[in-house]
Amino acid sequence: MSKFWSPRVRELTPYIPGEQPRERLIKLNTNENPYPPAPGVGAVLREFPTDHLRLYPDPGSLALREALATVLDVPASHVFVGNGSDEVLALAFQAFFCQPKSLATPEISYSFYPVYCNMYGIERKAYPLDDQWRVDLGAFEAESGGIIFANPNAPTGHGHGRDAIAALLEKVTDRVVLIDEAYVDFGGESAVPLTDKYSNLLVTGTFSKSRSLAGLRLGYAVGSPELIEGLTRVKDSFNSYPVDALASAVAIASLADQEHFDATRGAVIATRERTRTRLEALGFKVLPSQTNFVLATHPTHDAAQIFVGLRERGILVRHFNTDALRDYLRISIGTDDEMDSLIEVLEALCG
Ligand code: PMP
Repeated sequence: MSKFWSPRVRELTPYIPGEQPRERLIKLNTNENPYPPAPGVGAVLREFPTDHLRLYPDPGSLALREALATVLDVPASHVFVGNGSDEVLALAFQAFFCQPKSLATPEISYSFYPVYCNMYGIERKAYPLDDQWRVDLGAFEAESGGIIFANPNAPTGHGHGRDAIAALLEKVTDRVVLIDEAYVDFGGESAVPLTDKYSNLLVTGTFSKSRSLAGLRLGYAVGSPELIEGLTRVKDSFNSYPVDALASAVAIASLADQEHFDATRGAVIATRERTRTRLEALGFKVLPSQTNFVLATHPTHDAAQIFVGLRERGILVRHFNTDALRDYLRISIGTDDEMDSLIEVLEALCG
């Protein structure tokens, strides 16, 4: 505790992201993509005219928003971009959920939502998952404040279909519903097509997972022009939006390569299903996943001990030290070779 901190800062608990180790480990702890970004990304980085960095980027990020709009099949005026979806989420919290409002979230979901509630002084109402660990959409209907959830959810992996989301939006019309689709490309069903009909729906997405660009920091939101304008009202000058010129060029190159996108996400999905079967053969219970990770628990072996055992043998997975998740490990899907190594170590630890 420092005497220099304002009283509000004293109350805050910083978000601790998964470890980024300096040594070479098999890294299955922060849901990065094991495959490189589209080859066109490398070409952009090699050939980018450095003189362009002298200038501020286009204030409206128009070229990138148009490229995204084409891929997502929405008008460019319905698209917002930012430095990672975490930043887009931060702006959405400020624009739509700040006091005196409250925000409903699933009790188990992305751990940044409570951090942002805390940071922006928003009352958080946490709703339990249903008995199969799915986000309980029906419970949100009675809510009077905003609503946010990840779909597919993290770290549980289940995603609701578009019809279920539409049913929620038929009932909740006067508050913003924010759906975080960070993992949707690995088997979920996107709610983006619903943004045309429901002006209170904001969908966020990221280039960090299915586009293998976590190091670049690129995220976006899709929603009605009134929501997009809300986001632009709380952004700062050139930091949060537009995104920088180099990141924008890289993102456009990524969006142009549908073949690479489909091949790499298909490979991740196939490896996920193989991993799931092999974990089950070792006695793990594995939640069905529409993401690039699985959440698994072993009936007799302690998750924290498995985590340590894997770490000692050079494999990093995620163990959340919370009551609800203490018995679980979240394992990001790597290459087949990486998953072979994981299974080999788990055989030794739990077999
Ligand atoms: N939403 C969810 C559910 C996530 O798991 C993550 C990644 N940790 C993010 C958003 C943020 O992703 P990024 O800021 O890299 O776009």
